[in-house]
Amino acid sequence: MKNHHPLEPWNPRILDPFLKVASLYIHIPFCVKKCAYCDFFSVPYDESSALAYTDALCKELYLKSDSAAELKTVYIGGGTPSLLPDACFRQLFTCLGNNFQISHAAEITVEANPGTLNQSKTNLLLSLGVNRMSLGVQSFNDEELRVLGRIYNADDALRSLGILRNLGLRNYSFDLMYGIPGQSTNSWHETIAKAVDCSPTHISAYELTLEEGTPLHTLITLQTDEQGNYRVDKGQPCHSGMSGIFPQKNGFFSRQGTVGNHPNGNDTEKTTEDLSSNKYILNDLPLKLLHEDLILEMYNHTIDYLQTCGYEQYEISNFARLGFQCLHNMNYWYRGSYIGAGAGAHSFVNGTRSNNIRNIAGYMESLNSGLIPETGLSKSSPEEALKEFLFLGLRKTNGINIYKAEHLGMDIIRAGKDLLEEGFLEIWGDSLRLTRKGIVLSNSVIVRLFENLNL
Ligand code: SF4
Repeated sequence: MKNHHPLEPWNPRILDPFLKVASLYIHIPFCVKKCAYCDFFSVPYDESSALAYTDALCKELYLKSDSAAELKTVYIGGGTPSLLPDACFRQLFTCLGNNFQISHAAEITVEANPGTLNQSKTNLLLSLGVNRMSLGVQSFNDEELRVLGRIYNADDALRSLGILRNLGLRNYSFDLMYGIPGQSTNSWHETIAKAVDCSPTHISAYELTLEEGTPLHTLITLQTDEQGNYRVDKGQPCHSGMSGIFPQKNGFFSRQGTVGNHPNGNDTEKTTEDLSSNKYILNDLPLKLLHEDLILEMYNHTIDYLQTCGYEQYEISNFARLGFQCLHNMNYWYRGSYIGAGAGAHSFVNGTRSNNIRNIAGYMESLNSGLIPETGLSKSSPEEALKEFLFLGLRKTNGINIYKAEHLGMDIIRAGKDLLEEGFLEIWGDSLRLTRKGIVLSNSVIVRLFENLNL
């Protein structure tokens, strides 16, 4: 592994090194069951849909291959890509090989969920050229996994990891989550410590955000009042140890739409995909949002602990051992171009963003008629482009290159003067970046910087 990132703009005089499309995202939208907090675009898995979807995906990849240069990253995300049948993976990789030039050093990642990986599937993926796996562990606490509505327990996560390691894969990442209702600081510390014991090369630690319309959001809203106290004025008698009572409604969480931002940059809109086969059994759980001070403590612990364990924070939620930053995501944060394939996927090519149709049937229908399944194209306005440059740049711990910003017409040192004085921003070499104090309040710091720049 190189010590530095091949997509990074080493030379600040190179103003946009990402005009060539060197990244490909492929969305696999199938899941065993909808998680309670999930607002990503996903639909229930069935084999015939997966086979038909893969056919359509290959058509889209063929149609889009002309706009790609040699690929440096391929990221297969979801959903739960590890659910895809072996025949689909073979077909997909044959299609990639036939239509794209892929760098011999390309980072090729597949997302997997514990409980959906077995030895032969993993073996197949590695033989096809996958060299990085991202495991959606979330927590090593079984009760928290149940709150999240995940389909596996902590032992399953360790078993999946064992499979990866036995087959010789060393480059694997864990997704972890803090701020889960009912989570204690101790339990978060234990999850992080267990994760480090597993020696992943990379850890993404996200705060749980409760998106409106998800089962977890609905349940929390029903269980608590505006101040976060449990309601005592309706429902059944109190669950043991609780200060309140819970509404009881069997099957209440039987159907769920999705909306939101995917960590891989593929956000989705509401979908009416039927997930009615999924039942949530959360209404027996004491669910209460954590106080923001507790969440802040968890985040600060994450940064400190991972740093002492040799994981460098390189983005607000991402930590890696030296040389193992996720190249694919770095390209997003550098506002690099990428092609997105699959229902609901986004593309960003030469300053133009486009979105694919967000339902499986419409997506496949479009491709079966020989059409790229895009619903809209929009060229970023100059102001939007500057905002994206600042917003994405400040997510990275190495910040924004001052000279590049200047070339784009922004005096970010002058604009950030008050934020520098207040200790939210700092100058670091040729860059302006968030301090630790700024990182925890990143959204409001970035908004103030926009205001100072009249954006
Ligand atoms: S969180 Fe991931 S695994 Fe769970 S339903 Fe959503 S996409 Fe599927």
